[in-house]
Amino acid sequence: MAIVLYARKSVERENSISCETQLEYCKMMIKPNERDKKVITYIDNGFSGGNVNRDGFQKMMKLVRQGKVSKVIVYKLDRISRSLSDFVNILQEFKEHQVEFVSSQESFDTSSPYGEMLVKLLMVFAEFERTSIINRVTQAYAHRSEMGFYMGGRQPYGFELVPTVIHNIKTKKLSPIPSEVGQIQYIFEVYAQENVSLRRLLDILIAEGRQPLNGSSWTTAKLSTLLKNPIYVKADSDVYDYYDRHGVQMITDVSMFTGENGAQLYGHTKHDSGNPDWSDMKLVLLTHAGIVDSDIWLKCQRKLEKNRQIGNSVSNPTSWLAGKVVCEKCGHTMTTIKGKVNKAGEMRRYFNCTGRSHKKICTGPKVTIYAEDLENMVYECISAKLADLKEMNRSTRKGDTAEINELKIRIKAIEKSEKQLLDTMLAGGFNDDLLMLANQRATQFKKDRLALQDRIDELKSIGDETDTVVNLARSWKTADYKRKKDVAMIMIHKIIISEDGSTKVLWNI
Ligand SMILES: [Zn+2]
Repeated sequence: MAIVLYARKSVERENSISCETQLEYCKMMIKPNERDKKVITYIDNGFSGGNVNRDGFQKMMKLVRQGKVSKVIVYKLDRISRSLSDFVNILQEFKEHQVEFVSSQESFDTSSPYGEMLVKLLMVFAEFERTSIINRVTQAYAHRSEMGFYMGGRQPYGFELVPTVIHNIKTKKLSPIPSEVGQIQYIFEVYAQENVSLRRLLDILIAEGRQPLNGSSWTTAKLSTLLKNPIYVKADSDVYDYYDRHGVQMITDVSMFTGENGAQLYGHTKHDSGNPDWSDMKLVLLTHAGIVDSDIWLKCQRKLEKNRQIGNSVSNPTSWLAGKVVCEKCGHTMTTIKGKVNKAGEMRRYFNCTGRSHKKICTGPKVTIYAEDLENMVYECISAKLADLKEMNRSTRKGDTAEINELKIRIKAIEKSEKQLLDTMLAGGFNDDLLMLANQRATQFKKDRLALQDRIDELKSIGDETDTVVNLARSWKTADYKRKKDVAMIMIHKIIISEDGSTKVLWNI
């Protein structure tokens, strides 16, 4: 049974830590009692962690599958894979072949279900940290130069491009035309009202003689374009959430959405059976002040969406709990579907039993399970669960601190005996037999001392796990849609909805 050290360095990150240095870190993780074991090294230099098609990695997995590996050591978890699903599968294979998995930078015990879940969660949030690092860089860049740059495209109604100098570069930024601001605000306010369709809005504008100040005339298409544009909104976290939910790539960090600036949506919209797919679109916050309040603007978006969805009622809006929700009565999965629009113009999603809609074998829960309610409930449950884990760890740690202290005292005592023995030996007067005995004693002392030190290190690594959980709990507070989905996938086994609408969450841990 061999110990495998695995190192990977990607092509795209030139200044990242070298494979040689990674291996040095790995070697430090080999325990004293493992030093006589065979150590095999696999290196993938210039390979991305996006997939598992790497020579060294495949060779390592072959050896694992042959049952010849007892332990795999890496510098960091993401050396194995950057893809969570790959990583989870690999971890599963390690487990099947009784391979212990150790990372030098993140400490866990993968042999416990708790450690295993922690590793998976860490992967989720490691990816989260990477994207938030990208966001922070983009954000800093946006602050310095890009913010205020109009990202191109047709100049929106009511705005003019004014020359500006940013970083000694002559460029242009958007600025609202004061005389047109009132008319734009009026358009949003009227359309936000109940029972005002685009057609009705157009009629009102014509009847009141409000034509565009640029000399053209309003059409429903022009009004729809105007109403959809985030250039006008005072973008706050609700606006961020609105685009985030629609799968738009968020360029500016959510912390910047303070309800002051307008934003720009750019990129290409794909249309899939009438529903816009915004996954190729990006949203960036600009420097100009928004002119429409976020609640009015969002109300308009919901109405516009409702219009788009007419004749398209089979579309399947998702929930981050998708796939986890089960009907207790028939055991079938419950999926989200769109409900009727309420008086506030909101289209609410709710969970529906597929045994009812597809197979007609079930009547489903008697009450409506709104996706939003269930999501909020589960979100709170996960927060509580992470807090529990934190607490569980803290109490273990308290006991550990006491044990560490006791171990240190025992080490001190051994050190004292070692010193006494050494002094006696140095003082001379030992014959060969006594020297041999003294040497045996000295060896035993050293062995005992190292064993105690090992136990201390082990206890300390549990302490590191606590820090990890604290970080996880913190990250959960700012988790976006995708992150929530990943965490739910790992932590939740099933959410069971009974006939009376009560909910039971079955945890993976
Ligand atoms: Zn059912």
